[in-house]
Amino acid sequence: MQRQLLRILQEGDGRHISLVLTGSIMPSGRSADISLMGPVAHRLRQTIGALAMTMQLVGHELILARRMERLGTETAFEVLSKAKALERQGRNIVHLEIGEPDFSTPQHIIEGAVDALRGGWTHYVPSAGLPELREAIAGYVSRTRGVAVRPEEVVVVPGGKPIIFYAMLALIDEGDEVLYPNPGFPIYESMIRYAGGTAVPIPLREERDFAMDVDEMARLITPSTKLIILNSPQNPTGGVLSRRDIERAAAVIGDRNIMILSDEIYSRLQFEGEPFSIMSVPGMQERTILLDGFSKTYAMTGWRIGYGVMRADLAAQIARLVTNCNSCTAAFTQRAALAALAGDQSAVDAMRAEFERRSRAFVDGLNRIKGFSARMPKGAFYIFANITATGWPSKRLADALLEQAGVAALSGTAFGSFGEGYLRFSVASSMENLMEALQRIDAWTKANL
Ligand code: PMP
Repeated sequence: MQRQLLRILQEGDGRHISLVLTGSIMPSGRSADISLMGPVAHRLRQTIGALAMTMQLVGHELILARRMERLGTETAFEVLSKAKALERQGRNIVHLEIGEPDFSTPQHIIEGAVDALRGGWTHYVPSAGLPELREAIAGYVSRTRGVAVRPEEVVVVPGGKPIIFYAMLALIDEGDEVLYPNPGFPIYESMIRYAGGTAVPIPLREERDFAMDVDEMARLITPSTKLIILNSPQNPTGGVLSRRDIERAAAVIGDRNIMILSDEIYSRLQFEGEPFSIMSVPGMQERTILLDGFSKTYAMTGWRIGYGVMRADLAAQIARLVTNCNSCTAAFTQRAALAALAGDQSAVDAMRAEFERRSRAFVDGLNRIKGFSARMPKGAFYIFANITATGWPSKRLADALLEQAGVAALSGTAFGSFGEGYLRFSVASSMENLMEALQRIDAWTKANL
């Protein structure tokens, strides 16, 4: 700070200087004019004093709402920007941190959007979604989950994430308890807490192949439990809930008025067997909010489109939240989603097969590296590797691999406290990149463990 001030003093005209304050002192680019008197040392003291005064005059402290302290984040985006910063310094990084398919969106979906843009789908549409898309989604969910879904029970939103956000805002009051998988998608815990709820983790354990223990879930239910979040196939572990687990969970919940948020965004990326939804269990449909979308299934992460399926009265409330926030999901994106549902599904099957092939190869490779062990995931595109044998805490190891080995992965703790001892690697990257990452990790462990 002092050095910078001195430099500015020398650049000044001796009587009058102009300070441009940056960084943590003030929002960058603000300037303050300060007159100088006396010898340089004295001037400097004066300048610093004047600086403090000027800051008081022109700087306003940012006073955030208290609820912002409870908001979490998705570390993947932070690690991505850290990795990009290293790349700008000339480093080569293998990106295994971000959870998005590396494939292109299938061409017929792109054509659907281009046709829509040319055809004038460039205006507001109803908050809950285009009627024809709500109908197509209702048909798709009815077929795949074996339940009767009406278009009024569908809300289209910009991505799967907003369903988590809106469901919490619509349902959770201060003191309500929400059970959620941990390790799990970090937005669950963040949004439960942001809405004022109490986040109650359901630990997922490797010895159960990361499927939740239904008896443990049962013990966590209290009279304050308002919502239970399920996610299968699961991020970050690749765990899957079997039909038996889900039926038992429904039996345990019984007649209680507890809502279920069933995050099925990876349902088309399950490697073995058919995915099973709690919505399909008799009696559970009116208590289930099914979250699904297009991001993962059709490699459409950047399009921002997803949906929730829920009882019509709740759907109308979520649509009110959409009106207050997004107004609606982009019209041409919704037309593209229609093309996705109606069109050829072979690209989805090809992507799933490729994710499975890469997962197997990466798991095999990791298991040959000292200190690492991994199980074959049952779906999605993540490897949740056990690193306890390295003796390193997860976050430190993730940082070291990024900075020293040039491999960006996520610490298991980015997914909750029960993720300690693990790293998540996304296999949504080419086989070549995955093999390169394995070599780098292997070389790093040989040099450091
Ligand atoms: N749920 C889970 C479990 C996810 O992993 C993600 C994305 N990483 C989402 C929801 C959100 O998906 P979208 O990009 O469609 O908002």
